[in-house]
Amino acid sequence: MQITSDHDPLLALGGRKKIRDEARKIREKYFGNIVTASKNYFIPLIKYCRNACQYCGFSRKSEISKEFEDMVVNLDQLKDKLKEAKEYNCKEILFVLGDRPEQINRNVREFLEANDCENAVDYTVKACKMAVSMGLQPHVNLGVITRKEWEKLKPVVASAGLMLENISNRLTEKGQVHYASPDKIPKARIESIKAALELEIPFTSGLLVGIGETDEERIKTIETLANLANEFETLQEVIVQPFHPLPNTPMRNTEECPPYLLLDTISATRYILPPSLNVQFPPNLSGFPIHYGINAGANDLGGISPITPDYVNYSSPWPKWNFLMKQLRSYGYDLVERGPVYEKWKKYSILHEKHKVT
Ligand code: SF4
Repeated sequence: MQITSDHDPLLALGGRKKIRDEARKIREKYFGNIVTASKNYFIPLIKYCRNACQYCGFSRKSEISKEFEDMVVNLDQLKDKLKEAKEYNCKEILFVLGDRPEQINRNVREFLEANDCENAVDYTVKACKMAVSMGLQPHVNLGVITRKEWEKLKPVVASAGLMLENISNRLTEKGQVHYASPDKIPKARIESIKAALELEIPFTSGLLVGIGETDEERIKTIETLANLANEFETLQEVIVQPFHPLPNTPMRNTEECPPYLLLDTISATRYILPPSLNVQFPPNLSGFPIHYGINAGANDLGGISPITPDYVNYSSPWPKWNFLMKQLRSYGYDLVERGPVYEKWKKYSILHEKHKVT
């Protein structure tokens, strides 16, 4: 079914209170009092990126690290990190890379060559194989890639992700957040997401809230995600991610996404998406008590690492698992650990089917 909105998105959906109530009811019906999250281990495999998103704290503009050695994880370091992940009982290994890093940095090209890899995708495949050989479950996020590249990754990943962020071409124009970022052109992102979904890779996408988009653009983005979920079976979760300003970025003085807007967007997402899809928000960025987000319609808190930082939002540490568990329990919710692939989608994951990981 194609979903379309009227001009005023909140009115088209029935108003804020109606959406909040409906979203809560849907979450209660399909997820009861269960809230899920994954204990993950974040590995920023290659931090260089050919894009120039105005809010980015991950890539070469990062304040944390500028030396080449801090921008890539070599295979020896990787092995140590994977061992540490096992020690901390993290099932999920989150591999994150910038888009096409080999295109903008000669050192990266030489590094990849020295590892017998043509590009960052090949290196990610190598890293995933190492993780799988140690009984771990890779979830990869390496930006916009082609169908052929997804085909290479499918046998070695548990799941993968690519945020849609926003479907607005306007945001790629000069002066906007996604200017000079070829991989943020909505058509390119949708094509890459569709390629992964056609290959039935358990998949995560989502939207970024508060980056200068209009209400209408935000709703249309949710509708696009809903249409993808209706068309393909393996979109398993949608992240509603608030913009959070980071030091040393062009948007450091921009107001962060207000909590009410995040809550409204969580509710609208839950209301518009197919009801059994998982709706997630990051508890380290929300700016409100966790149960507010659950009451607004979310049922998942994403990856929470017991040991690594959130390299994307490095100034916002993840809350501790026990703290979240206690807090949620006091409001009647149970926090349940999941891996990168939700139960219903495990039949699509080669890792679960072939390697029998649990
Ligand atoms: S695509 Fe991602 S890593 Fe690259 S500049 Fe944009 S936010 Fe940063």
